[in-house]
Amino acid sequence: MSTPIIVIGAGIGGLTAAALLAEKGHNVRVLEKSSKLGGRTASIKFKNHILDNGFHIMPFYKKSAIFSVLKKLKIESKLKLAKVDDIAFHSENEFHKYPKGMLDLLNLSLLPLKSRIKLLKLLLPLAFTSIEKTESWDNVSLTSITSDLDSDTNAFFEAICMLAFADTADHISLGEFARTIIRANPFKGGTSEFAYPANGGYDSISHVLYDYLHSKNCEIKTRQSIKKIIIENSKVTGVVVRVLSGDDELIRTKCVIVSYPAYNALNELFDKNIIEEGFLQKINKLNKTTSVVEVHFALKSKIDSRQVIFPVGDQYTTKGIFFISNITPSVSPPGEHLIIAGTPVPSEDTDNPQEIKEIVNKMKEEISSIYPTFNSELIWERPMAWKLVESVVKEPGKVWKSKMPHNIPGIEGLFFVGDSTISYGIGTDSAAHSSILCAPKIESYLRS
Ligand SMILES: Cc1cc2nc3c(=O)[nH]c(=O)nc-3n(C[C@H](O)[C@H](O)[C@H](O)COP(=O)(O)OP(=O)(O)OC[C@H]3O[C@@H](n4cnc5c(N)ncnc54)[C@H](O)[C@@H]3O)c2cc1C
Repeated sequence: MSTPIIVIGAGIGGLTAAALLAEKGHNVRVLEKSSKLGGRTASIKFKNHILDNGFHIMPFYKKSAIFSVLKKLKIESKLKLAKVDDIAFHSENEFHKYPKGMLDLLNLSLLPLKSRIKLLKLLLPLAFTSIEKTESWDNVSLTSITSDLDSDTNAFFEAICMLAFADTADHISLGEFARTIIRANPFKGGTSEFAYPANGGYDSISHVLYDYLHSKNCEIKTRQSIKKIIIENSKVTGVVVRVLSGDDELIRTKCVIVSYPAYNALNELFDKNIIEEGFLQKINKLNKTTSVVEVHFALKSKIDSRQVIFPVGDQYTTKGIFFISNITPSVSPPGEHLIIAGTPVPSEDTDNPQEIKEIVNKMKEEISSIYPTFNSELIWERPMAWKLVESVVKEPGKVWKSKMPHNIPGIEGLFFVGDSTISYGIGTDSAAHSSILCAPKIESYLRS
């Protein structure tokens, strides 16, 4: 039997890459250091609710890279999806329906008619351009087209930045923004809808991939931390794994796929001088991520029937309120309702309990101002802070082909997937996209 392909990490990137190779008949072994599948999308049970690792939705619904992987594997029916399309903005005591398409923009009551027309004039050419063309804007900021807009329209842009994990428009590359608009354009085969696993728990996606890998006789082991990738004569020859007992084991292999942020892996897994210094420095510069504070709230009754609310305006700390039980009731026990509110924060705030407490109190005040019964309906709250949301920010010069490549020239058998590597899209979509792009390169290496 041939040596297995070793996949380091069982998040969306690692599992999609493993599954695409298993489909081609390869012997794949996934080794995950934590006790759970899903990486950043792992879910837990808490007081009979299913809590995600922060709020997760799948952008582009059935047009997402994740869904296209499941389709390729012919297992898309195993993942039941609930549609997330009942979304609204909240501004000055009023709700305004989120536009699902370009024409909806004309009816967007959040903005004066003049601004809507301006917005349409700006977005329509982007929506009909090609993905290739967007590459020429990867080093340009979104503000290059928004800086002359009135404050109402700018507030709209700031509100939708949350969807791209950016705090402000100048932290988004125009190229990446344009790709999102193209993929949301139904006339280009896209969709602006989102999805969430109907049975509750974003980790359902990982479990579907796990079952597939299992059916292909691939091994997936948790609590296996890779300590080293061995490179001899510029070729991968093995990995050293620390297993549960604390012992180190050597596994011989000719092919390793690293799926966690490349700027960490490159500094952790190799003997000195294996990775060329200039290359390492370039990739280390990508180490800039968005961070968030999010709070799960369990409520005694429904305070809104919508699925997602984006508060608009500088006065709000809260950038999104997600009514998860309205997306699927499966996440909560009968009679209880789960919501999660979140806001992007500077990375250092995630280590500061006092700061987190203040942010949470502010969010609670704001939610109460929108929903006066919120406090009386509240059963419990569970705040969390995440330093690492997406592993690479969407800033100009840090997107698409400027990200970590899938392989390092001169080293054979070593591949990289996950959201830090060449791909576009948002979060989990980009992690799956990287695997779609990388799998043929691995195949080609294995054939050679
Ligand atoms: C709060 C929050 C909210 C988010 N919201 C969304 C959202 O709404 N929509 C969306 O699409 N995305 C969202 N994301 C982003 C999304 O979760 C990530 O982009 C995606 O899950 C990254 O997948 P990955 O496979 O690249 O990496 P990861 O999920 O990080 O997987 C890497 C895996 O490698 C393992 N690993 C690391 N080192 C080793 C080692 N030495 N040995 C073995 N295993 C190792 C890790 O434990 C991990 O399981 C959110 C993230 C967070 C934190």
